[in-house]
Amino acid sequence: MPASSPTEPAHGALVDGFGRIARDLRISITDRCNFRCTYCMPKEGMEFVPRSELLSYEEIVRLARLFVEGLGIESVRLTGGEPTVRRDFHRLISMLAELRTPEEMPVEVSLTTNGSSLARHAELLVQAGLKRVNVSLDSLKPERFAAITRRDALSAVLAGIDAAVAAGLDPVKVNTVVVRGQNEDEILDFAEFGRRRRVQIRFIEFMPLDASGGWSLDKVMPADEIVSRIAAAHPLEPVAHGAEPASRYRYLDGQGEIGVIPSVTKPFCGNCDRVRLTAEGQFLTCLFAVEDLDLREPLRQGASDAFLAELIKQAVGSKWAGHRIGRVDFVRPRRSMSQIGG
Ligand code: SAM
Ligand code: SF4
Repeated sequence: MPASSPTEPAHGALVDGFGRIARDLRISITDRCNFRCTYCMPKEGMEFVPRSELLSYEEIVRLARLFVEGLGIESVRLTGGEPTVRRDFHRLISMLAELRTPEEMPVEVSLTTNGSSLARHAELLVQAGLKRVNVSLDSLKPERFAAITRRDALSAVLAGIDAAVAAGLDPVKVNTVVVRGQNEDEILDFAEFGRRRRVQIRFIEFMPLDASGGWSLDKVMPADEIVSRIAAAHPLEPVAHGAEPASRYRYLDGQGEIGVIPSVTKPFCGNCDRVRLTAEGQFLTCLFAVEDLDLREPLRQGASDAFLAELIKQAVGSKWAGHRIGRVDFVRPRRSMSQIGG
């Protein structure tokens, strides 16, 4: 049961000027990655944050504890870059899984990963306290997968999805970024894949956060079009949803559901319940934020929890109504997706 209802902020909750309450913290733990997805990173030349500037696991947990114990955060999702490339990643999961809300509820720890190492590590991560996972997968065709990720790793990722299900992670979701002209012809194949393997496919609209600056509106496959293509083969009905970004649809024949994330065509900013921490300790109130709050410097200078909490509350208080993708006044953030943490 959530600690508080969506309309009633708990004591110390992070409430913004539009009455939205932050309950979900996305923590990027590295900007490095073993893939180079075309819609995210350039083939070469990406500059990475020096290791000394990354938050240590102890620093991440210190901040996460403050968010969970004092600021109303109920779930923490680890992302990156590729979070599993960081050494002893399971150690961080076990440290975070020990955190409790003021109501003594365990924080829900989840992961977004490219899945390349899940076949080896899924069980270890579950033992450490991981509950759920989202695995990114944009093509079921080996050659296209290699062209998109610039790595020949489709079989490793498929094995990783199976290992995640076998290890008891629940739900296992598959994130598929649909780029028009690149993989839109596989929408139905993905739907079939999800129905067969009992995993929820979440189709994500391509967002202007690629490091190469190749995004354009005509490459965005609108979520409505994705849903109608699938519904023509397998009738669907909408599922009521809360603050989550995905609009969910259930197959009428009972074979599971899909999600679509219409960040571009139907932004869900009005329901946003998330805030973010980058790998180098910058606090962001939005994926598209152009301003950030440095928490690493005060943390390393010995700031108290009360001082840090005040900085965070002020930043959330000034959170904007939402991004303006596709409008003339949209300003692209200076960081790309792998540097923010998707
Ligand atoms: N490396 C992990 C992974 O790929 O799952 C976690 C980090 S990745 C940046 C998080 C999510 O962002 C992935 O599902 C990825 O497909 C998505 N993503 C990256 N660039 C994107 C873009 N330009 N538009 C939409 N989604 C994007
Ligand atoms: Fe790496 Fe994930 Fe970006 Fe692909 S989407 S390059 S796996 S961080």
